[in-house]
Amino acid sequence: MKKILYATQSIDSADLKAVKLALRSACLTQGPIVDEFEETVARFCGAGYAVAVNSGTSALHIACMAAGIGGGDEVITSPNTFVASSNSILYCGGKPVFADIMEDNAVIDPSDIERKITKRTRAVIPVDFAGHPADMKEIKELADKHGLIIIEDAAHALGAKYRGSRVGSGKYADMTILSFHAVKHITTGEGGMVLTNDKKLYQLLRKLRTHGITRDPKMLNRERGDWYYEMSALGYNYRLTDIQCALGISQLKKLPAFLKKRREIVRRYDEFFAKTGYAAPLAAREYVDHAYHLYVIRLKLEDLRVSRRVVFDEYRKAGIMVNVHYIPVYSQPYYRNLGFRKGICPGAEKYYDEALTLPLHPGLSKTDIDRVISVTGKIFDKYGK
Ligand SMILES: *Cc1c(COP(=O)(O)O)cnc(C)c1O
Repeated sequence: MKKILYATQSIDSADLKAVKLALRSACLTQGPIVDEFEETVARFCGAGYAVAVNSGTSALHIACMAAGIGGGDEVITSPNTFVASSNSILYCGGKPVFADIMEDNAVIDPSDIERKITKRTRAVIPVDFAGHPADMKEIKELADKHGLIIIEDAAHALGAKYRGSRVGSGKYADMTILSFHAVKHITTGEGGMVLTNDKKLYQLLRKLRTHGITRDPKMLNRERGDWYYEMSALGYNYRLTDIQCALGISQLKKLPAFLKKRREIVRRYDEFFAKTGYAAPLAAREYVDHAYHLYVIRLKLEDLRVSRRVVFDEYRKAGIMVNVHYIPVYSQPYYRNLGFRKGICPGAEKYYDEALTLPLHPGLSKTDIDRVISVTGKIFDKYGK
C-alpha cells in the first residue's frame, strides 16, 4: 500500500538542472547564486533586504541576536509551534514567555500577548501557524506601545498575505524568518532566511551569519587591503551554499503553482468537513490569504468514543501518515526542567489533545485525496457516537 505523507518536497527536472549548473559553477558557497536567491525572495515578498542562512532555526537565532536579546530579556511567543521559535530565545540567554492561542485558528492571541507583557519584555515572536498569518496589526500596536521588536516566524507562511500585504514585506514586523526545510513551501534541503527593511539589522545579520566577520570596506575600522577582514561580533557559520540557493531559485518559480495546488486540496477537504460533525478544520480570517502549509483538523472528542491517539493510529494503519502540530513547547522535558508547568496556556493544551494534521502537499493526486477522505469517513463511522 502506497504511503501518503503529510508533507514532502516536490522536485522536478528543472530543479535538477539548476543544481547541476551550480555544481559546475566557480563557487559552491559564498558565490553569486546566494545573492540572486536573496534578491528573488526579497522581491517576491516585498522586503528591502534578505539574508540567507542554513536553516530556519539559524534565521531565528541571528534574528534574536540582532534584536539584542540577552540577559534574561523576556520574549513572548506561541506554545503552538516547532521548538525552534522558542529555543532561539534560550540560545541568546533570553526567557521565553508563552501567550495562548485563539480557539478557532490556533494562532497566537494578541490579547494574551498583552497580558504577558512586563517591564522586561523585549520582543515578540508571533508564529504564522499552518500558513495563517498572526494578527500582526494588533501585535504591532502592542509592540509600538511597549517598545518591542517583532520577529515574525513565517516558516509556514511563504506566499501568504495579511491585510493585502505579503508576509515578509515588513509592514508589521522588524524581521521575518522563513524556512526552506524539505516539508516547507519551497525547499533547499535545509535552509532559511531573514527578511528586513532595516539596513542596520541587515548589516548585522550578514555579519552574524559568517562568524561576525565583514570585508565591507565601509564597515572596517582599522587597516585596509584586500586580505583584510574584521571580526567585530561573535557570529556563527550559518551560511547557505550556492548549490542550495540554485535549488531555492528554481523552487521559487513554482511557488505560485504550489500554492494553487495546496488551495485546491484544501477546498476538497473543506467540502468534506463541512458535512461531517466529528471534526472541523481551523478557521481562517477573511483578511488573510492563507498559505496552507498544514491542514489541521480538530476532532470533536465529545462526539467520538476514542481519543486522538486511536484516530491517529487508524490513519497510520491505513498508510496515511497524519501528524500532530504541535505539542505545546513548554511541556517538553527540557522546558519542564527550566520550571515551565502545565496550565500556562490552557487553550494550547486543549487544542493539542484534539489536533490532527492531514496530508497536504503539491504532489498529492486526486486519488490520494479521495483515499484520505474515504479513510476519514470510515474512521468516523467506526468511532462516532
Ligand atoms: C520549520 C520551522 C522552523 C525551523 O526551521 P528549520 O529550517 O527546520 O530550522 C521554525 N519555526 C517553525 C514554525 C517551523 O515550522
